[in-house]
Amino acid sequence: MTRLLSGLRTAASVAGTAIVLCASAHAASVHRYEVSVHPSLDRLAVRACFDGKAPAALVAASDGARFYLESMRVGDRALDPSGDKVMLDAVAENTCVDYQVKLQPAQTRAQTGGPETRRVGSDMLTAIGDWLWRPQESDASIELRFRLPSGVEVSAPWQRRAGNDGQPVFLAGATPYNWSGVVAFGHFFTSDIQVPGAVLHVALLDAPAPAQQAQLEKWIEHAARNVSLLYGRFPVASLQVVVTPTPRGRGPVPWAYVSRGGGPAVHLFINPARPSGEFERDWSLTHEMSHLFLPYVVSRDAWLFEGMPTYLQNVLMARGGAISVEEGWQRMQEGFQRGARTAPELSLVRASERIGYNGIYLRVYWAGAAMMLAADLQLRSQTGGKQSLDTALELLSRCCASEERRWSAQEIVARLDELTGTTIFGDLVRAQFEGASYPDYEAVLTRAGVKVEGAWVEFDAAAPWAAERDALMRTGH
Ligand SMILES: [Zn+2]
Repeated sequence: MTRLLSGLRTAASVAGTAIVLCASAHAASVHRYEVSVHPSLDRLAVRACFDGKAPAALVAASDGARFYLESMRVGDRALDPSGDKVMLDAVAENTCVDYQVKLQPAQTRAQTGGPETRRVGSDMLTAIGDWLWRPQESDASIELRFRLPSGVEVSAPWQRRAGNDGQPVFLAGATPYNWSGVVAFGHFFTSDIQVPGAVLHVALLDAPAPAQQAQLEKWIEHAARNVSLLYGRFPVASLQVVVTPTPRGRGPVPWAYVSRGGGPAVHLFINPARPSGEFERDWSLTHEMSHLFLPYVVSRDAWLFEGMPTYLQNVLMARGGAISVEEGWQRMQEGFQRGARTAPELSLVRASERIGYNGIYLRVYWAGAAMMLAADLQLRSQTGGKQSLDTALELLSRCCASEERRWSAQEIVARLDELTGTTIFGDLVRAQFEGASYPDYEAVLTRAGVKVEGAWVEFDAAAPWAAERDALMRTGH
């Protein structure tokens, strides 16, 4: 989007409006990469051909990339990385660069964080930044073609179209080069799942048995359908979903994360030994998908980008019937209490600074979730039910989702107030950050007439926010 618009602007200033579309179509350069995958799956041979003037340098997003790079050359001339770049000085126009990569997968069984290169059974999961050397400029589009050994599939976050020869073609370039993501190669199961407003491109790594494939596909579809109940469509039009079995960790989904490099993706580590009912009632996938209601937020503002999905996971599961409405409230109250009990001496500012220690993330996540519940109910009440967090996030998706940059919580909060024509979000956040206490979730639940005692949940029909409370858990409000 950014590339096309800047192309249009340049063309308009020189050429006049009549031939703008034509001129911009020719002006936009698309670099062509052909990636040949060796049957071992850990060796890649890449031919990168540049359209017009070659970029000044090629960069890879990960620190490891230069160690995995075996050789790079243009014609007879060898190119070497200096620091994290390969300079392409004095390279002619319309030139191709060839390079070979030998990936070294992580050997440990434990997953250490976000995207990383590792073996999953005989399949290969790769961090894109470990092998893709590309122009740094975010307006550079790259068309990637894969030459795959027979029977090998590829899963990637980029926009995909079918190539003439049946081999997949992807278009990369919409997101900054240093946003991380994964590409997988292997003999795995792939399928496309349609949900309102989106196609999910699913890859189930390490070949689960057919019955389990069907069960996992159903689970993914149900979660996505529940997520699309917020405002009638899934928050992004295309999503890469990678499912990796893991023998470690607790519950059906011991670990999961969202990545944005190249396009939105959810990567789930599952314990295939857990019964299917546990998957359907687990919050992780709904939570991960709910991250996509917000654009990419800076890491210091976890209270917002984790608080939002932590709140929405229970609302959306209850709306879709994965859990009952009573259980939705019960899970919320339990979470608020856990957050309040964790490091009770810390204000939200201090807890955010120490989020990596001693489970303090629970305090940050659930404080953020409590703030979202308060804002949602108040917005519903103040606008007589015309607006809600649902409608606010729908407006946010229309104005801001296509901006490929990182946002601060402050910017998003200001935008939500602007879009709703209120000061609800800003007032609430300011008051919370000025004080030292945990959000007063008990006062909010009392106003909403929700009383939870253990497994017992009671609703007070005469509570001031009774109508808002009921509407919150219904679809279409
Ligand atoms: Zn999260």
